[in-house]
Amino acid sequence: MNARGETVVLLASRGLDMGYMRAPLQSVFDQAGLPLELRQLAPTPTLAGVAGGEEVDVALCWEPPLGLWPQLPRVRLAQSVGAGVDHLLEDATLPPDLTLGRIRDPHMASGMTAYVVGAVTAGHRQRAAYARQQAQRHWQELPVVPATHYTVGIAGMGTLGTRCAQVLAAIGYQVRGWSRSAAATPLPGCTHHAGEAGREAFLDRLDALVCLLPLTAQTEGFVNAQSLAALAPGAHVINVGRGLHVVEADLQAALASGQVGLATLDSFVQEPLPQDHPWWRTPGVEITPHIATRTSPAVIAAQTLRHWLQVQAGQPLDAAVDRTQGY
Ligand code: NDP
Repeated sequence: MNARGETVVLLASRGLDMGYMRAPLQSVFDQAGLPLELRQLAPTPTLAGVAGGEEVDVALCWEPPLGLWPQLPRVRLAQSVGAGVDHLLEDATLPPDLTLGRIRDPHMASGMTAYVVGAVTAGHRQRAAYARQQAQRHWQELPVVPATHYTVGIAGMGTLGTRCAQVLAAIGYQVRGWSRSAAATPLPGCTHHAGEAGREAFLDRLDALVCLLPLTAQTEGFVNAQSLAALAPGAHVINVGRGLHVVEADLQAALASGQVGLATLDSFVQEPLPQDHPWWRTPGVEITPHIATRTSPAVIAAQTLRHWLQVQAGQPLDAAVDRTQGY
């Protein structure tokens, strides 16, 4: 809080210009009748220093500069602008007792579902092969596999994965889900597998594997030689989680051998993907620049305010983070 009694919200990212959050935050605080001072760090990978850091109450972040937290001694809420909080937890200076918030947004789930269902159907219905045929004015029917004979596995049956699974099952795909704990309510048309014990049965001969996991110590490198070998030959791998979920060399080898026929990748270890990265020219790899889904700034602003009010009231957050699990 500053000397005028205003809540101080710091916008912090080392790569993204967070200025887009200014107007929506101001609007929700105004509507709630709460005075607000917004401060914004220039997007920079290195942190020179935060002026007046002791007045900051809330840090709204996407990949905040490393070493930020000791400069904000009174901060009470670190709020992610996305569903994942791996970009917060990677900083060793993050205080262990600081409350972390993430975004849970039905619109984000619908955007993700559109992306995942589009990728699954494009792979299943061989759209890349038809695009090649069209370029050659070549009319040829390829074998059509019914959706009921095509098995899609969703690794990560959370807010986003559950919605994708429901829509894929409604189309008629065989759908398997995998999560850490057993499903509270089984989804109609989906089989569910849980934990390390369920991993093998989940992966077994999947035609398409969708990674929608949070990035944690347990899930890093989930798409590796062993898991890829368990899929059906020529399988489709869709990574909409984080770049570090994929062991890149293992996926390269699986694409080269034909064990993986198509890889749709939306997240990368380094973003933007470097110009000289092999993915740009690897046959069978389709790249999108981390756009699978987005949350509207208005929703981020509303959830940030709601979380801030919950912190002040000593209540649990709507979209809380379990630090022990890492998501
Ligand atoms: P949730 O926290 O709602 O769900 C996470 C799911 O992963 C849960 O089902 C959880 O199991 C499961 N899980 C976690 N750890 C493990 C594990 N070790 N083994 C098996 N399952 C595990 O997350 P969301 O659905 O909101 O988001 C998922 C991820 O999607 C985000 O963390 C982010 O990485 C990615 N994302 C990507 C975007 C993009 O544009 N590419 C945009 C937004 C998000 P359980 O149910 O038992 O807790």
